[in-house]
Amino acid sequence: MTQWQEPSSTATALLLLGRGSDPGSERGVDCPGELPAASDPGLVERARAAKAALGDRVFVLGHHYQRDEVIEFADVTGDSFKLAQQAAARPDAEFIVFCGVHFMAESADILTTPDQQVVLPDLAAGCSMADMAVLGQVEDCWDALVELGIAGTTVPVTYMNSSADIKGFVGRNGGVVCTSSNAKRALDWAFERGEKVLFLPDQHLGRNTAVLEMGLTLDDCVLYDPHKKNGGLTAEQLTNAKMILWRGHCSVHGRFTLENVQEVRRQRPDVNVLVHPECRHEVVQAADYVGSTEYIIRALDAAEPGSSWAIGTELNLVRRLANAHPDKEVMFLEKTVCYCSTMNRIDLPHLVWSLEELVAGRVPNQITVDADTSRHARTALDRMLALP
Ligand code: SF4
Repeated sequence: MTQWQEPSSTATALLLLGRGSDPGSERGVDCPGELPAASDPGLVERARAAKAALGDRVFVLGHHYQRDEVIEFADVTGDSFKLAQQAAARPDAEFIVFCGVHFMAESADILTTPDQQVVLPDLAAGCSMADMAVLGQVEDCWDALVELGIAGTTVPVTYMNSSADIKGFVGRNGGVVCTSSNAKRALDWAFERGEKVLFLPDQHLGRNTAVLEMGLTLDDCVLYDPHKKNGGLTAEQLTNAKMILWRGHCSVHGRFTLENVQEVRRQRPDVNVLVHPECRHEVVQAADYVGSTEYIIRALDAAEPGSSWAIGTELNLVRRLANAHPDKEVMFLEKTVCYCSTMNRIDLPHLVWSLEELVAGRVPNQITVDADTSRHARTALDRMLALP
């Protein structure tokens, strides 16, 4: 099979929060209230006390990529999809404190009742992938498809890791949201309704699912670069493509390379290579297993004692898995340490500050999605929840 290659080295703009640009600021990094130092020995006690004072009024969600110090205070842990479901399943909790990134907190706001308030302890906890698809760019892309007369046969599909604006766009235009565990089912659904798919914003999940699970070829896929006119593609390329992949990627999973897989196999010939589908196509092809964060956790739970695993996903999770499975050898696929820097914005001081603010009757860093965007995004999310 031909290896996929990045066709352009053009840098993709990195915006902070996913809902429009915010040049020159990192709002939310500094808490306006009293923010204890990370080394403050009383922090754990303060977090416990604030949580106890709030009782059932607060529900704390912790994404698998969060630091241990934060996970300790999570009422539930999970991937973005599971956490959104969990938020929706707690209508009695007045406050949802989301220890994750911005697009996840938006989804929680969309799926919870209007009376519930969603808090993101640090507003700078964005997601570089979600920020690679900005609404205006996606609308320009759609206009190009309309002009070519192919928008009517194109179904937009967006990964959960996208802003509420993009989910709203997809909902308005007959599309669906997907996660890394149901991407194939979402694409099946889309191809029953159209001839081609515009896949946002993660090119790798789109390509890996289309080629490795749906039987499409790399030639059926084109890469739409939002920084170029018509995505840098000709009318013929756009018309002939079955998958129009948005040029976005995860800055963590995009780091893993084919050489990493080859190197670990040289070192440990019996190693099982297990990677997330946000990894590059050639990495996924070379791996033994591929699956979502929840799949990775289940695979390690089911693994034989003494087996050896090289894992291509975020380091906080890999480290936690290594600690949870001392009878197995669990290693990070790449030698260089790589946390998700935006996930790591949420730390214990910010969590303590958020909880203490809530105790004091103030709601810090509330994430709200406007009613119109929320309605359309909800449509796209509900279509996903109804997938067979
Ligand atoms: S790991 Fe990747 S996709 Fe997930 S929040 Fe970080 S940058 Fe975004």
